[in-house]
Amino acid sequence: MAGGSDGADPRRAAMNPAEWLVRAAVRRPGAPALMQGTRVLTDYAAFARRAGAVGAGLAARGVTPGERVALYLGNHPAYLEALYGIWFAGAAAVPINAKLHPREAAWILRDAGAVACFVAPDTPAGLPDLPLIDVAGPDYATLAAGAPLPGPVAMVPGALAWLFYTSGTTGRPKGVMITAANLVAMSLCYLADVDTVEPGDAALYAAPMSHGAGLYALVHVLRGARHVVPESGGFDPAEILALAPTLGQVSMFAAPTMVRRLVDRASATGTMGAGATGEGIKTVVYGGGPMYRADIEEAVAVMGPRFVQIYGQGESPMTITALARELVADRSHPRWAARLASVGVAQSAVRVRVADAEGRTLPPDETGEILVSGATVMAGYWQNPAATAETIRDGWLWTGDLGSMDRDGFLTLQDRSKDVIISGGTNIYPREVEEALLTHADVHEVAVVGAPHPEWGEEVVAFVSSTPGAALDPAALDRHCLDRIARFKRPRRYVAAQGLPKNNYGKVLKTELRRRLAEGER
Ligand code: AMP
Repeated sequence: MAGGSDGADPRRAAMNPAEWLVRAAVRRPGAPALMQGTRVLTDYAAFARRAGAVGAGLAARGVTPGERVALYLGNHPAYLEALYGIWFAGAAAVPINAKLHPREAAWILRDAGAVACFVAPDTPAGLPDLPLIDVAGPDYATLAAGAPLPGPVAMVPGALAWLFYTSGTTGRPKGVMITAANLVAMSLCYLADVDTVEPGDAALYAAPMSHGAGLYALVHVLRGARHVVPESGGFDPAEILALAPTLGQVSMFAAPTMVRRLVDRASATGTMGAGATGEGIKTVVYGGGPMYRADIEEAVAVMGPRFVQIYGQGESPMTITALARELVADRSHPRWAARLASVGVAQSAVRVRVADAEGRTLPPDETGEILVSGATVMAGYWQNPAATAETIRDGWLWTGDLGSMDRDGFLTLQDRSKDVIISGGTNIYPREVEEALLTHADVHEVAVVGAPHPEWGEEVVAFVSSTPGAALDPAALDRHCLDRIARFKRPRRYVAAQGLPKNNYGKVLKTELRRRLAEGER
């Protein structure tokens, strides 16, 4: 792994992502670029100039190509200026979720060896002693108004561009090294497999920009589209439904839990308000966690064919498989239902297969671990060769996800391997039980986990958040399961939960549920 350098062999240099910004600014200088709500803050000429100035300022402060500069702030209109500024200087960005505790952020800053960090005004104390640049402060204003670099610094092959830290549900987070070439491949896959992007489109950042939503900025920069941070700075379903008709051609990334809230809000608004049926929304790309069939069917029924699914992970960002909108919406296909429950087919830049513990490819429809190789797969874990060797073997990324692939190449995910329940020596996939329970009208949200059991090893427990007005009725849910899944898979215990614990990206924290059970919650 090496950083960028002006002296790089130009025939082999990696594409600096900031090149796309420079080109967009040349082609469409006056086009709206960065927006807050409906307000245009900068056009493309100003976006590129300001990012180039941030890059020059970082270089003047001693940041050299290949060094790491962090972003510890929530969604903010200056986020992309700072990110592209880092790339202009040939440095690598370290995105840190704004909701992390300062102690966690401090750990990441130290591990990454960050030399500077962009922050928001409300950043709490407790970060290590390194230059903090408040994007709303006078220092940043001066930085962004300075003289820009003549162009982005050339990056050497393999240059690190995005050092993303895993959420670390098992132990310390690991830094995932995503190269500039990975980001280019990821962006081209968006155009090949996910959706078109037109100059008039608006990328709406409702999900954290420190994660996949932020990475989708690249393809929108490439096409010279608008980048919109909502006034709330985050995900507010009512705000989005109101904003979309005004903006028009809105694309956004949303975790399944966000889609659910958007659809709940849209159906509550009914036909009364503008945008209630998704007017102005071109595409919602969903992924990052399981989307249950009942939920996506309802989403399409309420808001129309605006949904595309992706499956990815930090180690192959946003890019393992995709389920195109036609496949989500086309009920006429004989295998529509099975395809809807899948995560689609391999994206263009990667190969995907399902393997046994020895890495041998399994026959169609058999469940094993999902392996990925190709242009979007990370270079490895930052300063952690042991973890890299464990995760990338013989050129294949072992995702830790279990699934099966059908004859047509459609991949269906089961669960993370660590979430599988083994009861009486038999594997039970929680997702299947969750799917069954979610078809019951009283069940709003559900998470199924294994609890230690003296005789069976583990027993199946369901945490259920009931729909408003309904009470948890274990006997009714048991009958419902008996009608749908094998007896041995059905939950032996139900726990009423008011909402499920989720991490900063909206993923249900099964580790937390297992901990509650271990502590005796019944
Ligand atoms: P992260 O590295 O934080 O992006 O988390 C990636 C993990 O989220 C994957 O390994 C999967 O377990 C899960 N995931 C991502 N996309 C999907 C999807 N479309 N359906 C189900 N799970 C998903």
